[in-house]
Amino acid sequence: MIDRILSDKEVIRLRNSLEQHNNFILTCHLSPDGDAVGATLGMKHLLEAMGKTVHIIAPDMVPRSLLFLPGAKDIIAYSKYTELANRLVGNAQMIICLDFNTPKRLDNLAPVITESKAKKILIDHHIGSEEFCDLTISYDHMSSTCELVFRAILGMNMYQLVNRKCAECLYAGMMTDTGNFTYNSNDPDIYNIIAMLMKKGINKDRIYQLAINTSSADRLRLIGYSLDKKMEVFADCGAALIILTKEELQQYNYKKGDTESLVNMPLQIPEVYWSVFMREDDEYVKISIRSQGDFAVNTICEQHFNGGGHKNAAGGEFYGSVEDARAEFDKILDEVKAQQNEENTNK
Ligand code: 5GP
Ligand code: MN
Repeated sequence: MIDRILSDKEVIRLRNSLEQHNNFILTCHLSPDGDAVGATLGMKHLLEAMGKTVHIIAPDMVPRSLLFLPGAKDIIAYSKYTELANRLVGNAQMIICLDFNTPKRLDNLAPVITESKAKKILIDHHIGSEEFCDLTISYDHMSSTCELVFRAILGMNMYQLVNRKCAECLYAGMMTDTGNFTYNSNDPDIYNIIAMLMKKGINKDRIYQLAINTSSADRLRLIGYSLDKKMEVFADCGAALIILTKEELQQYNYKKGDTESLVNMPLQIPEVYWSVFMREDDEYVKISIRSQGDFAVNTICEQHFNGGGHKNAAGGEFYGSVEDARAEFDKILDEVKAQQNEENTNK
């Protein structure tokens, strides 16, 4: 028996909303990842099985590695098809926001969504969701939004409406947000959910192969270079840092998504329990931080990099040069050292 998580009130309100409206817009965060794409597509396939009209609008493009998911090529990037997206939002009766907790994560799409007259629902698993929807379904102990969506489907007694396409998309999100079930993945329900998704005919090995285990030669060389020449390890503070400049990225014909999961690699070193990756972009330095155990990186991203996220996976942006971003990292190292000293003296 899988725990359904949502309260009865939430289930009733969600089901009524889905049943009573016909024209839906689904949206997710900037630089959509497997969970954002999987949750919006999973919800789209469910709604289409109910006979609804559904469009997905993402703030920007879906990464190449996820385009194999059924329906992914029809996702409208607001950055590219702004007028079409504005028109579709204008006609929508209901907007469902998935996998983000603040309109800020919608980038330029934010005002279009927040100012729309359509009814809005948020379904998310990030800590501390903002109140910008009529119904907020937020459970931060869920390993992925896709897992939460599946539990919502079960709660609404709609499992029979889940087709193979829907199951594939939800599985992809659960898999990517847990690093192929290697973190945040000790809840036995996750595996009962996977079994229920597999009964819909999905090929989970193929999804892993296409979403995670596929790389261009350029990407593999860039990863090799980053680990060999750019990774710094600060064993006394349990930290690792990789910085890539625009010039270095260009040398390896960088394409969006090529550095995905690089930030996790230094965590393979037993002494390292937090890992920082900085990538120089046009307008800012993109920051990604991952950690293991109790070391919270979302607060670091909030305090230093205009960002946020989860305890063990967070990100943000630094507005300044790579050198200044590096100086900010040194400040964080000092803070961590001071904290360690304090803890040692209190022992
Ligand atoms: P990534 O490092 O893959 O870009 O992001 C990891 C997680 O950190 C995301 O799932 C998201 O929750 C969070 N995150 C990344 N970038 C930002 C940001 O700019 N702002 C906030 N609030 N969260 C972010
Ligand atoms: Mn997610």
